[in-house]
Amino acid sequence: MKLRRISRLQAFALAFVVGGILPGFRATAVVAQQCGASGIALQVLGSGGPELQDKRAMSSYLIWVNGQARVLVDVGGGSALRFGQSGAQMSQLQVILFSHLHVDHSGDFPALIKSSWFEDRKDALPIYGPPGNDYFPATTEFVTGFFGDHGVYRYLSELLVSGEEGSYKMQPYDVLAEATPVAVFRNGDIATSAVRVIHGGVPALAWRVATGGKTIVFSGDTNGDGEGLPRLAANADLFVAHNAVPEGATGIERRLHMPPSVIGQIAAEAHVKKLVLSHRMLRTLGKEEQTLGEIKKRYTGPVEFADDLDCFAVN
Ligand SMILES: [Zn+2]
Repeated sequence: MKLRRISRLQAFALAFVVGGILPGFRATAVVAQQCGASGIALQVLGSGGPELQDKRAMSSYLIWVNGQARVLVDVGGGSALRFGQSGAQMSQLQVILFSHLHVDHSGDFPALIKSSWFEDRKDALPIYGPPGNDYFPATTEFVTGFFGDHGVYRYLSELLVSGEEGSYKMQPYDVLAEATPVAVFRNGDIATSAVRVIHGGVPALAWRVATGGKTIVFSGDTNGDGEGLPRLAANADLFVAHNAVPEGATGIERRLHMPPSVIGQIAAEAHVKKLVLSHRMLRTLGKEEQTLGEIKKRYTGPVEFADDLDCFAVN
C-alpha cells in the first residue's frame, strides 16, 4: 500500500487536533508513526537527482521497523530536511549505507551528523560504502575528511576520533564487493548485503536490506551492466530503481544510468514483487507513460513512481 499525499495531510491535521486535546503532544510524533508504525516500510526521503529544479530532495531512503527508523541508504542534498520531516531520529538508526559518493547521494551527510549531536545517541553508528579510486575517496576517507582530526568539520571530531569524549562514535567501513552478494552488516533482525554495480568510473554498490522476513533492494546509480544487481534483487519484496534517464538515452547518460527497458528486464529477471522508481530528473519527469510502457513490456508486477516522503509498506 502506498500512502498518498492526502493521507499525509490528514495525518498532519490529526496531529493538530490531538495536539489541541493533549497539550505537549508533539505533531512530529504522529508523523513519525504513520510510516512504518507497525511492520516494515520504506520511506523515500529524496526522490530526485542532482538538479535543484526537479524540486525534489536528492537520493535518500529510510527503512522503518515497527515505528523506528533503522536503516538509512544514501544522504543526498536536501534529504536531511526530509529526515526531520519524516519524524525520524538519528538515535534510532542502526546503520547508514552509501551506494556511492556523488554529491546527490552524500551531500547532506555532515548536516545529518551535526543534527545527531542534539540527540541522546550512545550506540556506535556503523557507516558502510564503496572503496575509493583516483577520483573518489573511500567511504572511510570521506567520513574522516569531514570529521577526522584534520577534517573540515574537525570541531565535531569527538564523534569519530577514538580517545575523544563523544556521546557516540561513527564507525566507517569500505565494502569490497563484486557480482556475488556479500554479507555486510548484521544487527538483531537486520541484515544487509551488497554487490558492486557499474556506474561509469565511480565505485558504486547496490544494497539489499532484509528485516522481519522482508527484503528491500536499492539499485543505486548504475547502467545495469553485469550480473550482480539481478542476483542481489532476486525475489525482493521491493526493488527501488533509479529512473535517471529516459529510453533511448545515449553517451555519458547511458554509460552511467539504466533506461526503463533495462530496469524492467532486471526486475523481471529477479522476480521482484514490486518496483519503485526514484532518482527522477528533469529528463524523465513528464515521461512516465513512456517509461511505464517500456517497463511493462518486460516486468508485469506493480510499479510506482516515488515522490519525496512517500511511504511504502512492505507486506
Ligand atoms: Zn545519482
